[in-house]
Amino acid sequence: MLEELKQEVYEANMLLPKYNLVTFTWGNVSGVDREKGLFAIKPSGVPYEDLKWQDIVLVDFDGNKVEGNLNPSSDTATHAYLYKCWEDIGGVVHTHSSYATSFAQSGRSIPCYGTTHADYFYGDIPTLRCLTKEELEEAYELNTGKLIVQEFAMRSIDHIAVSAALCKNHGPFAWGKNPVKAVESAVVLEEVAKMAYRTELINSHVQPAPQYLQDKHYMRKHGPNAYYGQK
Ligand SMILES: [Zn+2]
Repeated sequence: MLEELKQEVYEANMLLPKYNLVTFTWGNVSGVDREKGLFAIKPSGVPYEDLKWQDIVLVDFDGNKVEGNLNPSSDTATHAYLYKCWEDIGGVVHTHSSYATSFAQSGRSIPCYGTTHADYFYGDIPTLRCLTKEELEEAYELNTGKLIVQEFAMRSIDHIAVSAALCKNHGPFAWGKNPVKAVESAVVLEEVAKMAYRTELINSHVQPAPQYLQDKHYMRKHGPNAYYGQK
């Protein structure tokens, strides 16, 4: 069932080692089929060099396995919750990519210091609070998903305009309209995290880019009057 989706998700997972976003088996990508109410996700603990598209596991929005010989990623419940709440996303990625994870560990959001960031993310990429001991013991992965959705709502962050979040003391989740777009978010996130880190090293008093410049760059690619690229 859903063989095309499994192949798409397999290929998106293989982009993680290609773009140096993962070490060993860390990281996972999923992609959704809204009609069937299922998503496809990387199996847990399988090295990328051994991964085959046939290994991709189908799961429902409550995280129950529907098809597959292997167990789905241990982060499945987080992906499931994001799909359940945000009906306009089609792909989710989790990595421990080095620079983004360094910001997550430091507890700091990534400020927008320039147009590389503004072209993809409208405003800071937020670092969320750490789960409480109770939340962790109750349902770690599910509550991670809940925290992302709740904090975006609480802080009035549009999850389409800011398609990534950093979980404190953990690492990034990113999403997009399909699995490849979600990986693109994760790749750009890592790049802007690296640039932000270096920017602060060069100038420890640096301020975020002016709002009008952030507005211009985000809107020319994503706003109603976007004009970047080819028609
Ligand atoms: Zn993780």
